[in-house]
Amino acid sequence: MTIQQLKKLKVDEALNANVWDVDEEPHIKVDFSKCVECDTKPCVRLCPAGCFTLLDKEVLFSYEGCVECGTCRIVCPKDAVDWNYPLSGRGVQYRFG
Ligand code: SF4
Ligand code: SF4
Repeated sequence: MTIQQLKKLKVDEALNANVWDVDEEPHIKVDFSKCVECDTKPCVRLCPAGCFTLLDKEVLFSYEGCVECGTCRIVCPKDAVDWNYPLSGRGVQYRFG
């Protein structure tokens, strides 16, 4: 794939091209008791991989599709995200940089 073709990829297309070697142990843990007190829930809007979702005002989290950007840790106003990289060799493997 050329640079020009790569630049035309949409975010979803680029994400779908990645592969994951998912660890059994989550590399991100969320203290959901703090989420109850969180009014704005920025993680739901800003996680590029859609790992945070809302169901009846309850925050759900799945780490399997995480692209390890660190956004959730930075934007969380309640310090509810315990963030680590996956174990060596696990997690996302980027196909397009
Ligand atoms: S931003 Fe933090 S506290 Fe708020 S819903 Fe997300 S993980 Fe929970
Ligand atoms: S590190 Fe990035 S991709 Fe992974 S859960 Fe947090 S915001 Fe989503």
